[in-house]
Amino acid sequence: MPHDPLHTDQARFKWRELDRAEPPKRAAAERISDFHEIYSLFDEATIREQASRCVQCESPACVTGCPLGNQIPKWMALAAEGKFLEAAELSRSTSAMPEICPRVCPQEKLCEASCVMSPAESVCIGAIEKFINEYALARGAGKVPIAPPNGKRVAVIGAGPGGLACADLLSQWGYAVTVFESQLLPGGLLLFGIPAFKLEKEVVERRANILRQQGVEFKVGVTVGKDITLTQLRDDFGAVYLGIGALKAKPLDCPGAELKNVLQGLPFLAQKNAPIALGLPPVDVRGKRVVVLGGGDSAMDCLRTAIRCGAADTVCAYRRDLANMPGSRKEYANALEEGARFLFLTNPIALEGNAAGEVTAVRCVRMELGEPDASGRRKPRAVKGSEFTLPADLVLIAYGFDPVPFPATSDLSQVAVNDWGAIKTDENQMTNLPGVFAGGDVVRGPSLVVHAVRDGRKAAEGIDRYLSAP
Ligand SMILES: Cc1cc2nc3c(=O)[nH]c(=O)nc-3n(C[C@H](O)[C@H](O)[C@H](O)COP(=O)(O)OP(=O)(O)OC[C@H]3O[C@@H](n4cnc5c(N)ncnc54)[C@H](O)[C@@H]3O)c2cc1C
Repeated sequence: MPHDPLHTDQARFKWRELDRAEPPKRAAAERISDFHEIYSLFDEATIREQASRCVQCESPACVTGCPLGNQIPKWMALAAEGKFLEAAELSRSTSAMPEICPRVCPQEKLCEASCVMSPAESVCIGAIEKFINEYALARGAGKVPIAPPNGKRVAVIGAGPGGLACADLLSQWGYAVTVFESQLLPGGLLLFGIPAFKLEKEVVERRANILRQQGVEFKVGVTVGKDITLTQLRDDFGAVYLGIGALKAKPLDCPGAELKNVLQGLPFLAQKNAPIALGLPPVDVRGKRVVVLGGGDSAMDCLRTAIRCGAADTVCAYRRDLANMPGSRKEYANALEEGARFLFLTNPIALEGNAAGEVTAVRCVRMELGEPDASGRRKPRAVKGSEFTLPADLVLIAYGFDPVPFPATSDLSQVAVNDWGAIKTDENQMTNLPGVFAGGDVVRGPSLVVHAVRDGRKAAEGIDRYLSAP
């Protein structure tokens, strides 16, 4: 058997000598004055060391912990040897956006949570994935082979991560892919939701350009159902992928919700973060006391954006406790470092306003966790007599999203949805309409970038099977 330095016992136990390292992060005081990413890359020596901490498990749980089934131990072995380009090639083979996922994935709940050395000592998979792929992209590598045109056409509706992932795989297989996108730039929530301090907009633009080089055509500023019908697309293309997201914000249901300066979180984030003017009304945050309602990624992003926009105080009110908060722990820690405050087990019951109709306070009640509900999470219930008032000049609602209902007049309404409006799909991601596929948030409800990428790739496989059938 040839000598393999990574499979000697000595190499397998590198983690005993080397602690997990965290990627360099800018100090909170510095980073809150701009919207640039807060993490930078490890140097090459550290990457090799950190990758060598991978135990090379025979049945690697990190691979099953990654929704994309990324071949993590294999690229760890290559990275440990300094073969960064080979590592990146392998990483790219299972992911449409291997430089974007490491920036936004909650690794502490996915691959790194599955590492045998988890939690404190897990291999820093995300930081290594980001390094190898940035290394390759900086050297003009990271490209995938493109098959000659196969003469078949596919329409992708929505240029979020799911639509882009579907377009990526199909274009590699020789399909002519046209992406129809309502916004003027491709990227979906990568561009108009997730703030630049987590994912700089140039990174998304670079990925869209790679797709253009692969032959993907983008038709931006086109809303399917308004500017063009689904029927037209089904006539013109062999298959259609619906990756239109879930962008209908859940409302705040309490008295005073209609007061001035009570805003939905997503338009606020888009107004502050989008790389182009969206015509949204400006929101002045300077010197304001900001209360963010909710406990997901959007809530963390609202807090951190408000801080960067000069808020005097930023408080998150969330009805469950930290253990049950859906937002990423990494981003929670970052928000704390940047000065956000958290009130757990706290729910708004009314908003108070002044004579000008502007919000002045959030009336809250303390909560306690009761019995588990149908989802298995303990249900919060109000504690009698525990009401208190939280001063507020700006309230941002971050309660999550539902799919936007299709207008009854649009032929999109032929697509079958479940009782909360999410598109129903089969095991190939195909909807009730033959040749019409769907994935990402419009199928799952609000989820993760990596899940949308996974759905887009799975749908591409389904489309390929559908269009290859005799
Ligand atoms: C503020 C915020 C922060 C988040 N942070 C994270 C994070 O840190 N990590 C993470 O993993 N996930 C995060 N998420 C979730 C993640 O962004 C989504 O799960 C993911 O973007 C869903 O991808 P998608 O392709 O299904 O839809 P989207 O990204 O929503 O893209 C859908 C696209 O379809 C377009 N579209 C809709 N209707 C039409 C139509 N009729 N015709 C043409 N185009 C149409 C939309 O304009 C949009 O561009 C965050 C979400 C939000 C809101």
